[in-house]
Amino acid sequence: MNIAENVQQLQQELAPSECKLIAVSKTKPVSTLMDAYEAGVRDFGENKVQEMVEKYEQMPKDIRWHMIGHLQRNKVKNIAPFVHLIHSVDSIRLMEEINKQGAKHHRVISCLLQAHISEEESKFGFTDEEIFRLIRDETIQHLKYVQVVGLMGMASFTSDEAKVHKEFEHLKLLFDALKYNDDLPDQIRMEEVSMGMSGDYRIAIEEGSTMVRIGTSIFGERNYQK
Ligand SMILES: *Cc1c(COP(=O)(O)O)cnc(C)c1O
Repeated sequence: MNIAENVQQLQQELAPSECKLIAVSKTKPVSTLMDAYEAGVRDFGENKVQEMVEKYEQMPKDIRWHMIGHLQRNKVKNIAPFVHLIHSVDSIRLMEEINKQGAKHHRVISCLLQAHISEEESKFGFTDEEIFRLIRDETIQHLKYVQVVGLMGMASFTSDEAKVHKEFEHLKLLFDALKYNDDLPDQIRMEEVSMGMSGDYRIAIEEGSTMVRIGTSIFGERNYQK
């Protein structure tokens, strides 16, 4: 695996649409992440709190850390001091906890609402109806240390490209509908739509992604047997 080469190739592919690259480094050691860092990567995505904290402590401080995995409320406190963006916000109770921890550290924490766009059962996220209900929920207006800056979604794991196109298109339409909604609370802005992984990022870019989360195509296959 030539990590620098992979990063350069991806950056070239993403440049015309100004889509940002999040290097998904879960399960990979710091030395491997440093190869990507030296190739210019400053945005890293992790899905486990403990692992992100350990890497944060060991790595340069100009890195932007993205939490992309399901986040338990009792672990928010560990990443609140430094996390750049939480992509996987899937409940108001989680937003309330992020607000509480943000207040403690005097940091407004940026978040994406995770939308459930695939037909797969196991994936977390809000339905469209839940998101439209959430933006009108008064609880949100009291969350001064939470700033929602967009949406995140994962398409079905399938070789049916038409289906993946449809699911990403759906997420982008939801994003646009919210963006042009005049009465969003101050806590919600629509700037980023995080969609696309190694297997489907080209489709996601065609559908208007602003952030792709890519692991395998940079670092190679993950080995979970540790
Ligand atoms: C692991 C992961 C990715 C990256 O997956 P690859 O197929 O390795 O690119 C992206 N998003 C989320 C939420 C993930 O958990």
